[in-house]
Amino acid sequence: MSDKQSQLDKIRADIIEKNICPELAAQATNLVMGDGDINAEIVFIGEAPGKKEDETGLPFVGAAGKFLNEMLAAAGMERSNVYITNIVKYRPPNNRDPLPDEKSAFWPYLLKQLQIIEPKVVITLGRHSMEYFLPGVKIGEIHGQPRHIQLGDHKILIIPLFHPAAALYNGGLRQTLIDDFVTVPEIISKI
Ligand code: URA
Repeated sequence: MSDKQSQLDKIRADIIEKNICPELAAQATNLVMGDGDINAEIVFIGEAPGKKEDETGLPFVGAAGKFLNEMLAAAGMERSNVYITNIVKYRPPNNRDPLPDEKSAFWPYLLKQLQIIEPKVVITLGRHSMEYFLPGVKIGEIHGQPRHIQLGDHKILIIPLFHPAAALYNGGLRQTLIDDFVTVPEIISKI
């Protein structure tokens, strides 16, 4: 097993051992850590697992994931070349929004994942993951606009996008998200 994979496995073990978000854990079937290429240059970060993700243990495999796959294809990107995770790693009951306490409980583990994977680019999907990287901004005002941030000793380009689930059934938002998404390869080619 690669060293990176064993470090990522340790994060999973820590979350279980430290009993992070016990109320969510008690209702969840799986802890959904993430999926994809652990050497990826691009990491996508969503909100929290939904029903399908909880059942399978994999992120973005339900309706929002299908839409994400379509946008990756439209942008000429391979899902197997990126890494996909969420800020909150257990499904909130009835897919409610994750609570501030839940997000802050999982944030250090997300940071550790990024320190191990060392991506050049983080694409946040929706405001729940965006607010931790770009505090105080409004997604409606800055979606699609890349910003450099310093994460520890690592410089990362953040590209904030709308959440695919929010855009899925909202025609205007859906097209905005697709338009933003297809600009991603060009943004990345310039770094
Ligand atoms: N929505 C998310 O934010 N994450 C998933 O994994 C699935 C749906």
